[in-house]
Amino acid sequence: MTSTWPTSPPAQATPAASPLARSVGTDRRGRARTLPIFGMVVHTTGSGPAEYQKQTGTPAVNDALDYYLGRGRWKGKSDGFPHYLIGYDGTIYLICPESHVAWHAGWAKGRARWDGWTAPAWWTSVWSPRGARTPADLLPPRAGSPNDAHIGVELLGSESGRGFTDAQYDSLARLVIDVFRRNGLTAAVPPNRQLLGHEDVEPILRANRGGGWDPGAHRTSPTFSWPALWSRIQAGGGPVAPPAQAPPPPAAPSPSPSPGTGIASAPWAVFSSVAGVAEAAAAFAGGERGANRLTDIIFNARHRERAGRPIASGETALAQEWRWIRDNVVASVLRIVPAAPAAPPSAAPAAPPAATPAAAQFGRAIPAPRRWAGILQLLDRYRGDVPLDFLLGWIEVESDGRIDEVTSLDERGFFQIHPDESKDARPPIQHARLSTDPDYSVQAGLQLARYYAALARSRFPWIPAGSELFWRVVKLQHAMGSPLAKRFLTDMHNRGIPFTWDNIKRFELSDGPRFHRLFRTDRGRFGRNVDRVFAYGRARAHSLGR
Ligand SMILES: [Zn+2]
Repeated sequence: MTSTWPTSPPAQATPAASPLARSVGTDRRGRARTLPIFGMVVHTTGSGPAEYQKQTGTPAVNDALDYYLGRGRWKGKSDGFPHYLIGYDGTIYLICPESHVAWHAGWAKGRARWDGWTAPAWWTSVWSPRGARTPADLLPPRAGSPNDAHIGVELLGSESGRGFTDAQYDSLARLVIDVFRRNGLTAAVPPNRQLLGHEDVEPILRANRGGGWDPGAHRTSPTFSWPALWSRIQAGGGPVAPPAQAPPPPAAPSPSPSPGTGIASAPWAVFSSVAGVAEAAAAFAGGERGANRLTDIIFNARHRERAGRPIASGETALAQEWRWIRDNVVASVLRIVPAAPAAPPSAAPAAPPAATPAAAQFGRAIPAPRRWAGILQLLDRYRGDVPLDFLLGWIEVESDGRIDEVTSLDERGFFQIHPDESKDARPPIQHARLSTDPDYSVQAGLQLARYYAALARSRFPWIPAGSELFWRVVKLQHAMGSPLAKRFLTDMHNRGIPFTWDNIKRFELSDGPRFHRLFRTDRGRFGRNVDRVFAYGRARAHSLGR
């Protein structure tokens, strides 16, 4: 089988953690990595944390975090730990930076473990056609166990042990794409040497006669589905990033941060290996919350030789680096801190906007890639802190990026705004102009998105503003209609049901019909609409190199 095998750690393997992951303010580390990252091993925590939740009410994810970080009831008792843990709602938690080895799939005796081994039938049926006789054949050269060169990811298991949430699959796919992209790896249909399960590399301890159970892909009734993951990886823009989309190479090492700059603390700590982050963390500690301003600070610290000179239009690699910093580092940090008071989005001084494409560029006859490139440019100009995935998904689901799309209800423009929404907006939206003026069509959609965001912030203050859950609820209000969404979500809150996206979808199925007949005619429609928006948005963002 073919596989990409870089001979030294790639220059762009920075930061040492996925920007998709959330730091919990502390981490675990094995020894520093000496071999380049070769692939990923998927695990499940098993049902332990979920059972503990049932007994004690402690959220399963908290117990799993305690276990891997050696805290709470697990202080001094835990041994193994992965690089990442994915909770039921899709949140990816950082346990160990990628720059270090995690103890998630070790072999005490190294490759000798498999001397004289007889493979169980289920394992042979999976791996013999793929050219492997023992798990040692699944490792890259020089690795003594999967720990040496594979990133470990744990999926939080359910009490029944019967599978994982859509949000977990979605997040795992995003994480795979991100890890592979940052490390110059090429993915193929899993399972394969670079993307496999703990049961594949540990078929004795992590399996029984029925097949593997960690994460459980090879059982007669699988509890984990590689095809479900693979379809999401493909929808997410494919496993291979064109070289132009790779993150920038690290600049000269930045001066070590002085004590008190705040870099050691969450939320910046996970990016501590990125040059310039210390300076941004200091500005952040001083109250700076502007995404573009923070990006400038990092960028300028990485490029002192430029003395703050703006990026010229021909300097595409630098412009790309600037955007990478904003979208991967700064946006990740701002996502997990309380939202700043709304400020008008400032244009990025480092990247002056180009001219607006004409409406004809967004017509039905224009090939999709050209339409979407123009939309991306307009969104970046106006969206401020509104997430790109959310906006791209909204546009894709509603109009596929065609400005001339008009429904029989006279919904118009990229966001397919209903005439009543235009009329009710303050200031009112010029409805006809939505179909003829691309710049205006984008700004009107953002006006609507910000309106629903402000409603969500005041009506549902218990949802962390700016989180992914927050933006899902923003879209849910749009899908359901805001009065109905208010009654529905407030009732769920009053019942003390924890606010996760999965719980909202479950509540829609179980209790929705009490609120409106709409919930009966097409069960689960609102949750599905929001899922679609975010899945399409992510796929579109990846296809645009973002
Ligand atoms: Zn495992």
